[in-house]
Amino acid sequence: MRAEALHRADLQGHQKFAQPLEVLSRLQDVSVFDVAGQDNTRWRAVSVLIHGNEPSGFYAMCRYWHSAVIPAVNLRFIVASVSAAKTAKWFSQRYIEGERDLNRCFALDDNQADTLRAQRIVKAIREVTPECVVDLHNTSGQGPAFAVALQKDLATRKLAGLWSDYLIHTGLRLGSLMEQEFDCPTLTIECGGSDDAKSHQIAYQGICRLAISETLDECAFPAQVLSHPMRVELRPGMSLSYANQRQHLTDVCILQQVTQYNYDGVEQGDLLGWINGADLSVFRVRDEMGNDLHLDLFTLDNNQVRFNQSLHIFMATTSVKAATEDCLFYCVKK
Ligand SMILES: [Zn+2]
Repeated sequence: MRAEALHRADLQGHQKFAQPLEVLSRLQDVSVFDVAGQDNTRWRAVSVLIHGNEPSGFYAMCRYWHSAVIPAVNLRFIVASVSAAKTAKWFSQRYIEGERDLNRCFALDDNQADTLRAQRIVKAIREVTPECVVDLHNTSGQGPAFAVALQKDLATRKLAGLWSDYLIHTGLRLGSLMEQEFDCPTLTIECGGSDDAKSHQIAYQGICRLAISETLDECAFPAQVLSHPMRVELRPGMSLSYANQRQHLTDVCILQQVTQYNYDGVEQGDLLGWINGADLSVFRVRDEMGNDLHLDLFTLDNNQVRFNQSLHIFMATTSVKAATEDCLFYCVKK
């Protein structure tokens, strides 16, 4: 199946079309837009809206079109989960009810709609043999931007540096787009909270920097690498709340201000929350080797769960839905 590429010239005939909601109203899942560059022999690929409730990349793409800046090389934008983004209140659904998280479907080969959508995205990227692939996301909680990649070479760090100061070098495999083999620097960028105007600005500035760079070697500020992330999940079936004091109606209660840890990190002894019971196995802490490190990461003191070491924290959220369906947060040892 060949990706149907629209060109910016097609859009400019529509006065309103540069408005993000108007654009979205006209799109279908996995819409592909190509912008011709000054050097039209090279390509860079940017995917947005893999998750329907993470609009910063999409807003930034529309704003970039509006700027009419001609990129140094061809850009291919892929707008992935349009249906999810247009379900219920727009930009409120990560994926369509009854489907799976699209960014967990890239390693699958069944014939389900979400897997086929993932395959169309990969095909649209591979058919232009890009010199980099960037997948723009938001976090559900507030926090600074960061990049995630399987590589940590200088080219990947420089690409990450267009958006962020930090690159998390991960060996965790989830079935995401960035885990696919494109034979070029490939990143996920988490631009910050999905309802934060600063996140939209970060996404836009990064796209502009990417667009005007003659070569990917130009970034003067390679991102700092943080290695060996751990993924902290709630064990399936556990109930969760967020509050500033212990809650007796849920198995686990996480501190309401947990998203502040996205900015500051935590020190040994800092409070995460409370559990009802004496068993820290309500948490599952997965490292890159598949070990469960919950006993290394946390201590329990009178129902209070405290951190057992100093950590950088990423993607902590106060959304019960996001935390239970995906994870509580990621962390890296300081
Ligand atoms: Zn996402």
